[in-house]
This record gives sequence, C-alpha cells and structure tokens, in this order.
Amino acid sequence: MITPSSTAAHHELSSHEVVLRLEADPHRGLSEQKAVERLARFGPNSLPAAEGTGSAARIARQFHHPLIYVLIAAGTITAALDEYVDSAVIFGVVLINAVVGFIQEAKAEAALEGLRSMVRTRARVVRDGHQRTVPSEELVPGDLVLLEAGDKVPADLRLVRVTELRVDESALTGESAPTVKDDVVLPGSTAVGDRRNMAYSGTLVATGSGAGLVVATGGETELGEIHRLVGAAETLDTPLTAKLAEFSKILTAGILVLAALTFGVGLLRGQDTVETFTAAIALAVGAIPEGLPAAVTITLAIGVARMARRRAVIRRLPAVETLGGTTVICTDKTGTLTQNQMTVTTVWTPRGRFTVTGLGYAPEGVIHDAHDNVAALGSHPALRWSLLAGAACNDAAMTEHAGQWQVVGDPTEGAMLVAAAKAGLGPAVVARALPRRATIPFSSQRNYMATLHEDATSVDSKGHVVLVKGSVERVLCLCACQLDGEGVAAPVNSVAVLDAAAELAGQGLRVLATAMLPVAGSNEFGPADFDEELLSNRMVFTGLQAMADPPRAAAAGAVAACHAAGIAVKMITGDHAGTATAIAGQVGLLDPNEPAEDRVLTGTELAALSGAEFTAAVERASVFARVSPEQKLRLVEALQAREHVVAMTGDGVNDAPALRQAGIGVAMGLGGTEVAKDAADMVLTDDDFATIEAAVEEGRGVFDNLTKFIAWTLPTNIGEGLVIFAAIVFGAALPIMPTQILWINMTTAVALGLMLAFEPKEAGIMARPPRAPDQPLLTRALMARILLVSSLLVAGAWWLFQWELANGASLPEARTAAVNLFVLVEVFYLFSCRSLARSAWRLGFFTNRWLIIGVAGQLAGQLAITYVPAMNTVFDTAPIGGDAWLRILLIAAAASLVVAVDKRVRRGHAR
Ligand code: ADP
Ligand code: MG
Repeated sequence: MITPSSTAAHHELSSHEVVLRLEADPHRGLSEQKAVERLARFGPNSLPAAEGTGSAARIARQFHHPLIYVLIAAGTITAALDEYVDSAVIFGVVLINAVVGFIQEAKAEAALEGLRSMVRTRARVVRDGHQRTVPSEELVPGDLVLLEAGDKVPADLRLVRVTELRVDESALTGESAPTVKDDVVLPGSTAVGDRRNMAYSGTLVATGSGAGLVVATGGETELGEIHRLVGAAETLDTPLTAKLAEFSKILTAGILVLAALTFGVGLLRGQDTVETFTAAIALAVGAIPEGLPAAVTITLAIGVARMARRRAVIRRLPAVETLGGTTVICTDKTGTLTQNQMTVTTVWTPRGRFTVTGLGYAPEGVIHDAHDNVAALGSHPALRWSLLAGAACNDAAMTEHAGQWQVVGDPTEGAMLVAAAKAGLGPAVVARALPRRATIPFSSQRNYMATLHEDATSVDSKGHVVLVKGSVERVLCLCACQLDGEGVAAPVNSVAVLDAAAELAGQGLRVLATAMLPVAGSNEFGPADFDEELLSNRMVFTGLQAMADPPRAAAAGAVAACHAAGIAVKMITGDHAGTATAIAGQVGLLDPNEPAEDRVLTGTELAALSGAEFTAAVERASVFARVSPEQKLRLVEALQAREHVVAMTGDGVNDAPALRQAGIGVAMGLGGTEVAKDAADMVLTDDDFATIEAAVEEGRGVFDNLTKFIAWTLPTNIGEGLVIFAAIVFGAALPIMPTQILWINMTTAVALGLMLAFEPKEAGIMARPPRAPDQPLLTRALMARILLVSSLLVAGAWWLFQWELANGASLPEARTAAVNLFVLVEVFYLFSCRSLARSAWRLGFFTNRWLIIGVAGQLAGQLAITYVPAMNTVFDTAPIGGDAWLRILLIAAAASLVVAVDKRVRRGHAR
C-alpha cells in the first residue's frame, strides 16, 4: 500500500481514490492487525524532537546576558595585562555558567515537555468496525478517525464525512476564523489553508463532527513540517524572569559606572594603572550575581515538579509564579467540586413521583411508586417515556468488568442509562425499540439534546418519535403539553414542573427534564431537516429525573483553605441555581447564616446588569448558575478590572476564550476537551478542586523561595563591590582579589543559595493573604535587610583584613581571612533566609537536608582553598591559623546576631 500510483496530493483525489490508495475502509476502518503492521512500519504518530538548530541557539543564548558581556570583557582585558591565571578563572566562570545554564534550560524544557505528555491526546478511531479510543501516538496511515467539537485533530486527515464541521486552523495558518470543511475534490494548487477536504494535525474542531482517513502521521504532517523548520520555539520566559532581566540591565549599568568611578578615583590618587584596572574589574566581577538566572530557572522547575506530584500539570511556566498570587478561583461545580458520580434517585412525572433505589452505575435497583410498590411501566406512560428519553437520547455507554460497572461518556447520561436499565430498559432493549435516525447534540449553550427515532414499539409501523432531555427551563420552553394519566396529552402545567424541579434542586440534586413527540415519520421529520425550530412549542413533557452527585471528599477542606488564604472561591456552573446553591452550601462556599440573594446570581440576572453594577455584583456573589460560556469570559474580565488574579476552570470548546483570558486557565485532564487543554495554563489530572488549592500553595512556595534566594545573594555582591570601592578610595590594598570573588560567588551560589530552592513550604503559607499583584519583588523591608547585611559584610571584612595586616599577616593570609569571613557570614545568613519573617531557630536547623549537605560542601571547599597548595597558587591564598578562624567565627556570629535582632524588630514586615 501507500505506494501512490500517481503523485497527486490527497486533496486532489476523491475520497474513494484516497480509500483505494491507503487500502483503507471508510466504514469499518483498518483491522487491528493492519494497524499494528503499519505502526511498526511508519513509527509512532508523534513529532520528532527538534534538534541541531535548537541546541546551537540555546548555547548562544547562554552568553547573551549583559552581565556575561562584562565578564568576557574583564577576562579579555585581564589576559591582555598578562594576568593569565586570573583571566583563566574568569573565563572558567563564564564557561561554567554557560554549561550550567544550558543543562538547566534543557532540563526545564524536557520536564515541561514530559509533563505535557502526561496529558495525552486521545483519538477516536474505528478499527474492525468498532469505535475505540487510542493514544494519538498509535494512529497509522489509513486509520479512520472520528472528530467532534472540542477535539484536536490528531493527524493529517482526508475527510470522508462531515456534519457542519468547522476547524480552527490558527495553529497552522494563523487564520483565527474556523474553516468550513467538506468532502470535495480540489485542484492541486490549493493552498493548505483552503483545503476544505483536509483536516490537519494540531488544528482544533470548533463545531460539528466528521470522519477522516489518516494520510500522514508524525513528522510527515504539515505540523511536523513547520516544527522541523522552526524548531521548538518554546520559551522559558516568565514575568519574573523578564523583571529580572530588566533588573540585571540596570545592575550592569550601575556596576560599570561604579567600576569606571573606581578606576578614575584610583588614577587621580596616582595609583598604578594596571593595579587600579584590576581592582575595577574585581569590582565589576564581584557585583555581578552570576547565580541568579540559573537559580530562577531551577526554582521554577522544582515548583513545576512539585505541582505535578500533586496532580497539577503546568503547561506554561509563567503560571507557576502567577498561581502564587491568585486572588480568586472560579471553579466548575460538576466534576470539580462534585464527584461526577451521578445516580438518578427520583423521577417526577405530572402524575406522581417515583424513587429509584441502588447507588453507583450498577443497574441493580428498582423504581418504586409513592406507595413503595415496584412501578409497572405499563401503567405509567410518563415514567416509561421519561426513562426512554433518558436512555435513547444519550451517547454514553455502560460497561461491566468483573462485576464493576462503569460509564463511558458523560456521567449525567450514564446515570440516566442506569436508571432506565433498572426498569428493564437496558441499552440493548432501547436500541432495538428506538433505532436513532438523527441527533441534535448537547451543548452548553443549547442546554438540551434531541434525537429522532424510529418507533418500533408503535402500532403504526411508520411511526417516529422525537426524544429530548435537558435543563428544565429549556425543555419546558419546547413543550406545549404534558403526558398525563393514560398516555393522553394535556396542556403542560409549567408551574407544577418548576416547583417540583426547584424542590429537587434544593436537595442538591441535578435535575433534567425529558420530553417526547410522536411524529408520522420521514414526510414530517426527515433526518435532514431535524432541527431546533421544528421542536419548538410542540414537545410533550414527560418528567424530571433528579440525580445525586455528592461533593468530593476534599472539596470542603480545600474551599476552607482558600478562604483562610484570602482567596475568594466562586462556583460557575451551567446547572440550576437551586442545585448550585445546595452544593455550594455543602462545600462551604456559602455561609448558611447569610441571605443567599446577592451571593447567588443566574445567567439571566447577570445579563441584565451592566458596567459597574455587573462588576460589583460579580465581586460580591459566590455562585453563578445557568451561566453560558460567553458569560464566563465577561466574569473573568470583570474580576480582572478589579485587579484580581483569576484562576478559571473550564472543560468545553466554548470555555477556551475565558481560559485564555484568565491569569491561570485551568483545564480538566479527565473530562476536558483538547481545545480547553490547549488554551489552559495548567491541567488537573484528577479534575479535583483540591488540586487547584494545592497548586496555589506550591506557587506561593516557589515565589517565597525565589525571594529568599535574591535576599540572600545580593548582599554578597553589594558587599564585595563596596569593599573594593572603599579600598581604592582609601588607597588601601584590595581585601579580596578578583579570582577570590569569583570563587565566593560561584561556590556559594551552587552550594548554599541553590539549596533554598529545596526549602520546604513554610507553615502558615496558606494562612496569609495573597501577594498584591503590584507588589515589587523586593519590598522596602527586604531591601533594608539586604543593605544591612551588605554593610555588615563590608565593615567586618575591612576590619578583619586591616587587623590581620597590622598584626603581621602577609597580604595573601589577610585576604584568605577576608574570603573566609565573607563565606561564613553567608552561611549564617543562609539559615536566616530560610524564612523571611521567622527566626532561624524556630525552623529547626535540619529540616532541609540539602542545605546541610550544601553547607558541609562549602566548608570543605573553604578548607581546600585555604590549605591546598595548588589552590593557594591559583587563588592567591595562604594557610591561616586557628586564632584567625576564631576571629572570623566571632565576627560572623556577631553579624548574624544583628540580623536576627533586626528580623525580630521588623517581624512580619519583610515579606
Ligand atoms: P455544569 O457542567 O456546570 O453542571 P453543563 O453546562 O454541563 O453544566 O450543563 C448545563 C445544564 O444542561 C445541566 O444543568 C443540565 O440540565 C443540562 N445537561 C447537562 N448535560 C446534558 C446532556 N448530556 N444532555 C442534555 N442536557 C444536559
Ligand atoms: Mg458539564
């Protein structure tokens, strides 16, 4: 196969020719065996990893930092001055930096990529005549793939059947308006964007449905082609890294000015040019926080990994940071706050109420009438037709595995299948009695589903019947009559129906209405013109089915945790206000002592509000019922107008705009469409509300750890810069040399600073209000602490250095003492930085194992640079005695005491 007899492209051929070329079957699909053979031959349907250009660009990127330019210039000049050892050390640092940066970036990207594959795209194929769901990697040329709204097209397809199919091809063509698809033959010259008979991998099905044959997979697809050309253009930039990049630019400018100033002052004082120049370079090199970019990437990457462990998969890195600042979470009800394990418990008909026994999806149970007798369907036509509508106007399926019953498809529909089965109307019986001829699918805008069936049960053999199920309000709108008594239709009593629905919803039950309409058959209702208009005001109401969907076990706890953390939680649902209010009460979203009026709003009420009223109402309410997907977008925008950082959940195609607009779009990994996942920043692999709360908690931890790292690293840089500046101004010898500065910066960043990224979250992280969206990275209090530590470093090092010299130490010995002092102060300060507000003593010294390992490594390094002769040569150091160590220790301890006192005084303000 698939040795094309002609070179014609697939869009030039008729679908029949494509079938022949691919040795495919447009109805039964490939056989499993053929699929396996082809998979071995063509390989998996996944994009090959982009290589080559990607890595080269990444290497180049590592040197593209203003701070690195300064280092390279410094290294070159030092070499020109014949200071080869110094120059080698500087270039060594540049190189180490690049290597570390490269590895970190590659790792972070791989991690993100790996996470993305945790959220697998699944494709629906037909093989051997049976519909199956397979991972999209397993698709092979010739496979028959089914598409419906919300799907991501899993491979390049030649369409063979379409029903109102529209595909959003912006991923491929940049054109955002969905393209209408059709099974036609097109001229060979048709551009990709105009090939109406093709659906391309990576594009999104906006509406309708269709079926197509796979003509290309993996790297052979159009998307694969683009991928190869562009390479993986994934960016690891986040608002924070952008802020830091800005910060480093300012820092670099400042450092260069200070270095130039140092050089100028030195020359004016008549000092040796070369020596002064070396000093200026030392200053520049010292003041550069080399470890900062790597630390940010690593901290974010660790955050991503921690979130993944808690079932929140980050798709876009900025979300890691944004999450920590979340002020409002807008969440779905069904499936997120509730278990999505539906069981019909009550069927209400105009002539009586029935109770359904049995829990879960096993069709074991019976339907009782009001007198606790098993209801006979023959004497309750409304009950019978309600159950039939529930079971036949339904796309779900029931399966049994070793006694375990499960539902494939929508749980709401599954519950109705089970209810009918309990009354003897199992799926097989229903399919035989009422073969389906046409469908109007459910959508969150339409809020109902309708199907046209042949009625094999009717006396009139040509009989057809329309069945409808959906929200009570919408179905009532379609109904003129209701099924009464002996199966006769009477005018519908909407008031009684609405009352019954409100009563059931008040118990937290999800209520759907059913209706039917006997029609004479094809001359009245041909499958082709079966549309909404034809149903209007003609349907016969049959009953209500009320189903229980208990809240998730962790939901109430997670809502309480959010409230404690100053995060508002709002439920946004398409469901009935009564059901929504009852569930909201159960999970603690509504205070039972408060009047529900302005805390619960419906879509209709929202639509009547405008501008400022709307914004205020949205801020106040916590439950939004019967909301359409379009209104979700308006809700997000209103909250954002109030400076909120909004996390919004969604699962359907129409939720995509709201997900994109929200600060953090959250898609459902289990129940969500591919379109929603594509638009989201984060995907919940368990669809659980508690997972959002967990992710927010981790996000706060990440932000804390970054702040801690910055608060810890900057004083060293400032201190080093100032010590050198002072030496030049006072015309004294340099207390630390450039190579020694690089030693301090590099080793401490890795051995000490990085360990802060492993810092466990502080207790009470969810007991404080969210960070204000406009809050700067470094608050005033933190800035003050940084300056304090910097001054302590300068004063301590200066004094120690002078004291050692005055008491007979050689220059290298005095410098060694100064270097060790810097490092020791950093070690002590590190323990203080583990918490921004709490004292180091309270945290316990051994709660971060990595930190202890890092400190031990750093101290070993200090012994090496002090006592190993080879190191002495490279770094201009010399062994020092025990009394010198004692002085170092005393000064470092004194400094950390000052920091501890400062922290105590300002407790709580440094955040
Ligand atoms: P949510 O997921 O927020 O509960 P949906 O938008 O899924 O809301 O559903 C809105 C309403 O549409 C439901 O309250 C129900 O009345 C109706 N509905 C839900 N699923 C179906 C379905 N499969 N067929 C018909 N009607 C449905
Ligand atoms: Mg839903």
